[in-house]
Amino acid sequence: MDVSTLLDGLNDKQREAVAAPQSSMLVLAGAGSGKTRVLTHRIAWLMQVEQQSPYSILAVTFTNKAAAEMRERVEKVAGSNMGRMWIGTFHGLAHRLLRTHFQDAGLPQSFQIIDSDDQLRLLKRILKSLNLDEKQYPPRQAAGYINAKKDQGLRPKHIDAGGFPIEQNLLKIYQIYQESCDRAGLVDFAEILLRAHELWLNKPHLLAHYQDRFKHILVDEFQDTNAIQYAWIRVLAGNTANVMIVGDDDQSIYGWRGAQVENLHRFLKDFPSASTIRLEQNYRSTGNILKASNELIANNPDRMGKELWTDDKDGEPISLYCAFNEMDEARFIVGRINDWQDKGGALSDCAILYRSNAQSRVLEEALLHKGLAYRIYGGLRFFERQEIKDAMGYLRLINNKDDDAAFERVVNTPPRGIGDRTLDILRSTARQQDLTLWQACLRLLEEKVLAGRAANAVRGFMDLIVTLRQETEEQPLYRMADTVIQASGLKAMYEAEKGEKAHARIENLEELVTAARTFEMPEELEDMGELNAFLSHAALEAGEGQADAFSDAVQLMTLHSAKGLEFPMVFMAGVEEGIFPSKMALEEGDRLDEERRLCYVGMTRAMQKLYITYAESRRIYGREDYARPSRFIKEIPAEFVEEIRLKAQVSVPMANSRFSNQSNARSAAGNDTGFNVGQRVRHPKFGDGKVTNFEGSGAQARVQVSFSDFGSKWLMVAYARLEAC
Ligand code: ATP
Ligand code: MG
Repeated sequence: MDVSTLLDGLNDKQREAVAAPQSSMLVLAGAGSGKTRVLTHRIAWLMQVEQQSPYSILAVTFTNKAAAEMRERVEKVAGSNMGRMWIGTFHGLAHRLLRTHFQDAGLPQSFQIIDSDDQLRLLKRILKSLNLDEKQYPPRQAAGYINAKKDQGLRPKHIDAGGFPIEQNLLKIYQIYQESCDRAGLVDFAEILLRAHELWLNKPHLLAHYQDRFKHILVDEFQDTNAIQYAWIRVLAGNTANVMIVGDDDQSIYGWRGAQVENLHRFLKDFPSASTIRLEQNYRSTGNILKASNELIANNPDRMGKELWTDDKDGEPISLYCAFNEMDEARFIVGRINDWQDKGGALSDCAILYRSNAQSRVLEEALLHKGLAYRIYGGLRFFERQEIKDAMGYLRLINNKDDDAAFERVVNTPPRGIGDRTLDILRSTARQQDLTLWQACLRLLEEKVLAGRAANAVRGFMDLIVTLRQETEEQPLYRMADTVIQASGLKAMYEAEKGEKAHARIENLEELVTAARTFEMPEELEDMGELNAFLSHAALEAGEGQADAFSDAVQLMTLHSAKGLEFPMVFMAGVEEGIFPSKMALEEGDRLDEERRLCYVGMTRAMQKLYITYAESRRIYGREDYARPSRFIKEIPAEFVEEIRLKAQVSVPMANSRFSNQSNARSAAGNDTGFNVGQRVRHPKFGDGKVTNFEGSGAQARVQVSFSDFGSKWLMVAYARLEAC
């Protein structure tokens, strides 16, 4: 591809960034202005025009999916061999570094990555061994503490807990947790980054090598980097590399995970020669969507300030739907998607975004009812599923007997008569004698501390692992997976369980064999062995999830995982106070701005059509709540919004379906709600009001009440606890 083609399809500002002389640069711009496009073209430019070798380029993106897309896009534009370019996420790249230099990083060659589940399990064990009450020290809180410290680059020895007993205990937990991870050759997600950073600091010859190599460092979604990620880039860049960062302070949505939007300012200070380029034209969304998003985000203080305009038509207004409840909301959304499909639209053009994962269940149910294919990003993905993690646990233990997290996971799955008491003895021995659980088993059997049935059960388990290891040694990966699933008893366990869920679990286990069969060994990891590479691949994929194999499906995801993506039609569901902004954000006032940025991210994913929906009452997290529309809805000027109300289409719970389309228009035969139009009523939450309308009958009877303080609402008589007054 020649130079002019590289600059085709770019506006002046974008060209300026892509074709800039080699130097450091900040591209600061709002959503959909082409930041990612600029980054991709810049890489191609460096290779084609500046004749830079792919070997000298390091590009960091936020998700594995984005990294794969970028690789593909650069390949399309540049067309050359990119095998030696490093493109990936911070975690992916740091992991690669640790694999290559495991000895310098102080890790065993077979080190394994543990996810947050494994981490919690390990922490529970440690709390118990320290006789600390889980209620006073919830494992999640301990994990949060440890991860936050690691994200700040802090080891226990750097922390002064002062005279605060709780902090002192948390520090002790961190210390012991780290010791057990080190003993067992385990690294958690935060550890990957921390170790990679320490590698720079402790091994100057390695740092010098990579500084010499990476002359160009490019980072997308820079606003969401945390302290350790920034430090890693900063050190690697040294005084010579050209660093191009692209980002948008208005889209910083990971503050709760330690991301620091101040890194944008820090960058300008640390790289004083860096120029700043602002892109102001949005190419993604229609005028209405863009203007509404701009108005919303204008409510935030302390912005770096950006203008965003579009050449596009205003397009349709944003549609706002007020649903009776969460089922009505789901039915509405699915109905619209169905219409879209009937008109020839692709399902994959539709995305449903929500604030919390729990919201997906009802939406999934409605989609299933309509028979529409869907796919969840970032939810419970294949490698996160219980049965898959069990099978992976066996594979991990075969790979490394000292992997304590895997040991804990599978020692009694399926149950093999190793009781809690035996496990407690194992854990405390391991802890006291500085052993891994496997080593503790050996010691206790040797010393005959374990005897009788307990000893037999433990011996049986160890024999199983040793035999599996021998049997599978020469097998290809997929045979190995198959052997493990069968011989471990996992498959038999689910077969005995019967039922649909167990059936799905068996299908998943079978799919694991396919996953192993189709696993492609990344070139750069060739040295580490196929099993080891597969285990790492699974651990890195689990948190994020790749699309399922089928192609056309509605996309469901949390607002967080929608970052950087775009879809012709977007639904934002559950836009209610207490859900979005979340209850937690409401309680801690300073998080509201971040919720608003998340809303901005959500709205700006939409290209042609945006729906915002909320429900008057919602069953979620096992409770039923009456909700008020989110403040964010009120912050969008009315001129960009049209309200949709489908009073006659109430969803009727039926014996066999909660999503029937049968409408329940107002019964002409009369009113059996127990209330009359005009009657004064009192509601425990909304206070006094007047009945203005009614519909439905029996369990589905509803009344519309005009409340003095809360406006008009439709309420289910059966749930609403309305009193006549
Ligand atoms: P976000 O902040 O959401 O990550 P972004 O700034 O990275 O957005 P891109 O995803 O790069 O934006 O671009 C948004 C859309 O606009 C893409 O579909 C992209 O192909 C298109 N686009 C970008 N620049 C141009 C251009 N000059 N002409 C036409 N289309 C463009
Ligand atoms: Mg982008």
